[in-house]
Amino acid sequence: MASPSRDWRIELVEAYPDLFRPVGDPPVAQGWPDVGDGWRDLLERACARIRAAVQADGGSFKATQIKEKYATLRFYREGALSPEADAQVDEIIDLAEARSACTCEVCGEEGRLHQSGYWMMTRCALHAEGHAVVIEPSFENVHVKERIVGEKRVVRCRRYVRETDSFVEVDPGSLGIEEE
Ligand SMILES: [Zn+2]
Repeated sequence: MASPSRDWRIELVEAYPDLFRPVGDPPVAQGWPDVGDGWRDLLERACARIRAAVQADGGSFKATQIKEKYATLRFYREGALSPEADAQVDEIIDLAEARSACTCEVCGEEGRLHQSGYWMMTRCALHAEGHAVVIEPSFENVHVKERIVGEKRVVRCRRYVRETDSFVEVDPGSLGIEEE
């Protein structure tokens, strides 16, 4: 990537000194958003929401890594928040990651998963390379999270709705996912 002097990534990091470590020289910071321009909007939205949650809580937050992996956003963080604020921030990051999975990383238009060789990417038709990965309609934009509660494996399935930037619950059983 060329390094224009006023890249949006620099502006984002400098606009949120409470969430990022300072921009250095070369102009990168720990937690620097290492993603394409198409994900700018969803990251800006996530940062505004995280700031509000952290400020209301009074705890601490720092982004440690923001990158693309397997065609979706990964947002890693550290800090100390109350359990409630921690859950809020988790939800904000889940929304951003889910949005990245249906947003072209180049231009920000609606996109879908494409594959070119071993390279996976979320792209609109204009910026796609390789071929669109076929996803069963019932699994489209479905995000599955597992956690262990006591001895039990609890599965939470949610469908991300791009128009409203929100999740709706999906019955795991309807997708053939069994809980134990
Ligand atoms: Zn595009």
